[in-house]
Amino acid sequence: MTISVDNQLGLTLAPGLTLGGDDVVMMAGPCSVESYEQTRRVAEAVASAGMRVLRGGAFKPRTSPYSFQGLGEEGLTILRTVADEFGLLVVTEALAEAHVSLVADYADIIQIGSRNMQHYPLLWAAGESDKPVLLKRGFMSTIDEWLQAAEHIASRGNKRIILCERGIRTFETATRNTLDTNAISLVKQISPYPVIADPSHATGRADLVIPASRAAVAAGADGLLVEFHHDPSEAWSDGDQSLPLEDVIRFKQEVGRVAAAMGRRLI
Ligand code: PEP
Ligand code: MN
Repeated sequence: MTISVDNQLGLTLAPGLTLGGDDVVMMAGPCSVESYEQTRRVAEAVASAGMRVLRGGAFKPRTSPYSFQGLGEEGLTILRTVADEFGLLVVTEALAEAHVSLVADYADIIQIGSRNMQHYPLLWAAGESDKPVLLKRGFMSTIDEWLQAAEHIASRGNKRIILCERGIRTFETATRNTLDTNAISLVKQISPYPVIADPSHATGRADLVIPASRAAVAAGADGLLVEFHHDPSEAWSDGDQSLPLEDVIRFKQEVGRVAAAMGRRLI
């Protein structure tokens, strides 16, 4: 893979909120949007910690077809309503090509999930959108394949791309995936796009999310996508890796110290 990079492209999401600059940008919220009340509780905690981007899935890529698949458009409505109440931006997944324009109507950032990293028609549709696209690394994809996938988006005109390292499958089974911190540092050097990390899916364990976040920030991540839930034991998806809302402030303090050591600010 030979994309040579002269300069990093900072991506301004909103006034005072740029990915790839001095700030490490938090994107926090539930794995799935379950209800208005659940999403509002999480958003309130996220906003009161000074974080500016709310995550949450309305279309869920579940390994089993019998697991909760997401609330669909109702979930998008909930996300937008709650985010507007607290002045947050929304990042949420488009699972299929047919969802891209619908998701773009409600969201500020379109997420492409790990399982879809090489779903080219979806990448092309996102590349034709005017919204930033958060491209997760396929959990069995090489760095080269990941960057080529980003090029599929860019080739359709949309260069507002955020690369997200979310853990890869290795021989290790003690954790859900393995956070590839090499990839964060390398991709920062060889790609023009901001790079963020998802420590929730990378570890699969709530007790490892803060340590993995610190490692990602130390490796140079420009942002973090993190799952929180008001009652992780009752979450409809990914409860084991979701942090409780009581940890929002602790997260900011503990990860913020590493950001400060890197000359950056966690917001
Ligand atoms: C998610 O962010 O909830 C998600 C499904 O992530 P991934 O595509 O990385 O598995
Ligand atoms: Mn999840």
